[in-house]
Amino acid sequence: MAKLKMTHVDKVYDNGFQAVYDFSIDIDDNEFIVLVGPSGCGKSTTLRMIAGLETITRGQLYINGRLVNNVAPKDRGIAMVFQSYALYPHLSVYENMAFGLQLQGVDEDEIEVRVLETARILGLEDYLDRKPRELSGGQRQRVALGRAIIRHADVYLMDEPLSNLDAKQRVHMRSEIIRIHKRVGATTIYVTHDQVEAMTMADRIVVMKDGVSQQIGTPKELYFNPSNIFVAGFIGDPPMNFIEGTISNDGYFFNDNFKVKLNDELIKVTSSHINKEVVMGFRPEDVICQDIDESVGIKLEAIVEIGELLGDNRNLYCNIKDKRIILRVNPYVPFKLDELISFMVKYENLHFFDKKTEKNLRLGEIND
Ligand code: ATP
Repeated sequence: MAKLKMTHVDKVYDNGFQAVYDFSIDIDDNEFIVLVGPSGCGKSTTLRMIAGLETITRGQLYINGRLVNNVAPKDRGIAMVFQSYALYPHLSVYENMAFGLQLQGVDEDEIEVRVLETARILGLEDYLDRKPRELSGGQRQRVALGRAIIRHADVYLMDEPLSNLDAKQRVHMRSEIIRIHKRVGATTIYVTHDQVEAMTMADRIVVMKDGVSQQIGTPKELYFNPSNIFVAGFIGDPPMNFIEGTISNDGYFFNDNFKVKLNDELIKVTSSHINKEVVMGFRPEDVICQDIDESVGIKLEAIVEIGELLGDNRNLYCNIKDKRIILRVNPYVPFKLDELISFMVKYENLHFFDKKTEKNLRLGEIND
């Protein structure tokens, strides 16, 4: 169990490139934190600074209240699972898991107890005598996790641990890791570029872009209350639709293609932006095509270009003039290709962003 705190951490590499800017976070005992963002945004650098594999250029890192900036990796009480988990091919599953403890000089009886306990948690009891090549990808990944868990660390760090698995195994291992986290109950920091992994696994998510933390919050907070256009577009699949326009002084959002009346709450939210350019956002799943009631939302029309049936719902790829948007509708909603479809979005599901700063204008509460 461990609390971890980072305050104003910067990372500047030897070549002068700054990979992380002013990163701060307070992580509680047993929290499962996911760092997510596109390639090169500084996730791994942040994790490696926590591990002690990279120096911290500025700022502080505390583990359980102790400043550890200059503490050697092995003395930080952390265990790390890497992307390429490289098991020892000539050692059995048992030996792979025991290896680290043997190096630490733990006695063999204790090692046996811990290997068996770890194997039980991970469902690997039947594979202890096998060599890595005799295991599936998912089983190998579990052995790699086992090597980390067996160390009884205070903090577990995982850098894209599922990236070598196929899509189905990833989904399976996602829930496995969460299950293991619940049982082992240790503070975990997990890096991924996959927002679905972040949404489904995290207690709290840190969204990063260009070395800067954009927002830290629960999956629900990020989904309903994204702090800016980047987070709004990154979290959610298909991504949020964005349409540019202007706020009029009589309570409308308008552009060259349409004009829609806002309700009192949104007039208030956008009141600082009258006659200024804003971006309106709405999620594909928040559109309603039947029983449209204009007293509770805005009505728009778009031309359907492609319909993509996914089973329980359908993605309609549409355009409003040249602006591409995606509507996620139930499969029974009638539509015709190249024809107009009408839909509404409830006021509560509309987001407004400043076009220049890209910040969310709504300071509202999280919807339940
Ligand atoms: P990915 O998802 O691709 O692994 P990431 O978000 O983990 O990306 P980092 O590996 O932290 O990103 O890299 C952040 C930035 O720092 C990148 O632009 C990368 O090129 C740069 N970088 C990483 N290591 C070094 C280094 N040793 N020297 C200089 N720049 C580096």
